[in-house]
Amino acid sequence: MRTYHAWLDDVRPSPYADQLSLGFRWLRFSRVLEREYRTHLLDESFELKRIALSTAMVIWLALAALDLMLVQPPHLGWILAVRVLVLVILVGCGGLILQRRYIRLLLPLSMACILALGIGAAVIVGIAHDADPSYPYEGLLLVSMAAYFLVGLRLSEALGCALAVLLAYIGAEWLAGLPLPRLINNVLFLLFGNLIGAVGCYLLEYKSREYFLISRLMRLLADRDSLTGLHNRRSFNRQFERLWRQAQRDGQSLALLLCDIDHFKAYNDHYGHQAGDTALQRVGALIEQAARRPLDMGVRLGGEEFALLLFDIGPDEARQRAEALRQALEAAGIPHQSSDSAAVLTMSIGVACLSPGTEGELSQIYEQADRALYEAKAFGRNQVAA
Ligand code: GH3
Ligand code: MG
Ligand code: MG
Repeated sequence: MRTYHAWLDDVRPSPYADQLSLGFRWLRFSRVLEREYRTHLLDESFELKRIALSTAMVIWLALAALDLMLVQPPHLGWILAVRVLVLVILVGCGGLILQRRYIRLLLPLSMACILALGIGAAVIVGIAHDADPSYPYEGLLLVSMAAYFLVGLRLSEALGCALAVLLAYIGAEWLAGLPLPRLINNVLFLLFGNLIGAVGCYLLEYKSREYFLISRLMRLLADRDSLTGLHNRRSFNRQFERLWRQAQRDGQSLALLLCDIDHFKAYNDHYGHQAGDTALQRVGALIEQAARRPLDMGVRLGGEEFALLLFDIGPDEARQRAEALRQALEAAGIPHQSSDSAAVLTMSIGVACLSPGTEGELSQIYEQADRALYEAKAFGRNQVAA
């Protein structure tokens, strides 16, 4: 399968891009991504599990009705007992799956359902063959196909289930005394059926993994600024609104720092656009460092304008953090000969805070920060205003 995509070189560094170009022929990612993929798979396949469970119950009951016509007592009694037992297991496991509370149990419960169905079917075929060798055994393949395609199992898990079912079948037929040539014939048929299922499952899982990596990569690219790697304005707008609501709900404070590089047009004119880009990247790295906590957010709003959104922080601390950021850029000592404010590249920062309990519009905090930034500029740049 094709593993190398040349365009990925343009979008690194990203674990998703790295994994895409490394390939995953053995259906395995690096450790962290693998964990993320499996969580995603559990989430994605929940609906599928629900459908699979209902389908399995309907078919299982329909086959029980068929047994009533095909099998005579006393074998019928045993077969119906097995059908009821499997149904009880399905209802029990299915109930837990549908509650969705025990996420860690979703996978073992799904496998338990498949194994109950498969081993139950194998035992039923064994019992029936004891009296009537023409009783259909092909239904076992339906269980394997469900494992490969219907439950959202990975190939290795589906293969494990299918193998257990096949072994259970061989054991049941052995006990029922099915003639060896017939047993070999049946097992070969089941093996070939499983081969088709496994190949299909491999291709499906490969595509599912590829889709996972590409969709995550696209999401990352859509939310990031390509020059600095910071969040872009679109991502900021969306997250800002979400954090704003969360802060209001939890009664927490929120601070917005709007940062603008001083005399950046002059910097570009003096040192060239390429040097300007490098300077923007260095400022971006400082902003990224300043957004330390998980809900903090460093943003490049556009051009030489940046924002830092800080969560759960009071007005004094926000001001201190802004001052620390301003000093960090000054201390970086990026020469700027044509600046009126200093001999190095500097920035002005406007700070606005939202305290718990204050009512107001989302746009107000932005306007406040913008006004503060305007003041910082007006009072001579390279300073913080709140
Ligand atoms: P002030 O001190 O008042 O903020 O003035 P300024 O020159 O920093 O602000 P102005 O808005 O006049 O100019 C911003 C400059 O930023 C203009 C543009 O050339 C430059 N710029 C915007 N985006 C980029 C970029 O991606 N790369 C580079 N190198 N320069 C950029
Ligand atoms: Mg500007
Ligand atoms: Mg500027």
